Amino acid sequence: MAEYDPDNIFGKVIKGDIPSHKVFEDDDTLAFMDIMPMSRGHVLVIPKTGSRNLLDAAPQVLANLIQKTQRVARAAMAAMEADGVRIMQFNEAAAGQTVFHLHFHILPMYEGVALKSHTGEMADADELAAHAEKIRAEL
Ligand code: AMP
Repeated sequence: MAEYDPDNIFGKVIKGDIPSHKVFEDDDTLAFMDIMPMSRGHVLVIPKTGSRNLLDAAPQVLANLIQKTQRVARAAMAAMEADGVRIMQFNEAAAGQTVFHLHFHILPMYEGVALKSHTGEMADADELAAHAEKIRAEL
């Protein structure tokens, strides 16, 4: 497996070089809206520590990340009035990974509504900002 590259897109989001619609932030974790959401309220949760994906992450990073993911998932489900929530995570290109900085996807799910395609359509920035605000209010 290749080495972690700190110049990946999410590395730049952490540094603030690329803007994001933040939902949650603390010393070691960041959660923000996915710009190409597969469902309304699609959030990404990332550790600030660099690892390429789950396979090379330190156990304590994973332990913390899944706890923050649970917290944000609860808030996203409540804020978006979703009927369920799916947690998704890809490792390496063959598995569908496109950004090589560890992240969990939080996908609010709605009865009878199919997921949109992965890395499909860019969402409206105002809509993403509104969703981020709603989810933040539940945290
Ligand atoms: P994956 O395929 O699991 O690596 O997922 C990467 C995700 O990052 C995709 O769902 C993209 O829509 C999303 N994404 C890519 N660039 C950005 C960005 N600048 N801000 C927010 N989400 C992004």
